[in-house]
Amino acid sequence: MHLQGPSPPRPRGARLDPAAAQALLARRGARATRARVDVLAVLLAAPEALSHHDVERRLPRGHDIDRVTLYRVLEWLTAQGLAHKVAADDRVWRFSATGGGASGAHAHFQCSDCGRIVCLEQSTVPAIALPAGFRRSEVEVTVKGTCDACHG
Ligand SMILES: [Zn+2]
Ligand SMILES: [Zn+2]
Repeated sequence: MHLQGPSPPRPRGARLDPAAAQALLARRGARATRARVDVLAVLLAAPEALSHHDVERRLPRGHDIDRVTLYRVLEWLTAQGLAHKVAADDRVWRFSATGGGASGAHAHFQCSDCGRIVCLEQSTVPAIALPAGFRRSEVEVTVKGTCDACHG
């Protein structure tokens, strides 16, 4: 349990669309629990990949989800292919609903100033040939630099 301070203001630009989240879950034939809908709506509204903590902060007022459930829902969304996760330099997983594809299908940008991770969905990850007998489990391509908010 962490200390509950006054809740911080909702980050700008995060307009939640629970109906869109519900539709995506319905398309999977998955049960649309409130936690799944809320978490997926938060991911869908974010232009960048979010850590557990980021998701927590963006949940609609009065829709708090305990930490265990939040972890479970994020892993479930990832397993369903509705989200993917990226590990940053700080080894914190960040989740994104964009792309809808498997992790590694696109490159990511990581800002070395603010730590923000953005999906670069227009860029596909090049096919990298492996030596005979090697098997890949995942491919991550991350471009590092400073984001538009930091280098201005
Ligand atoms: Zn930045
Ligand atoms: Zn991504």
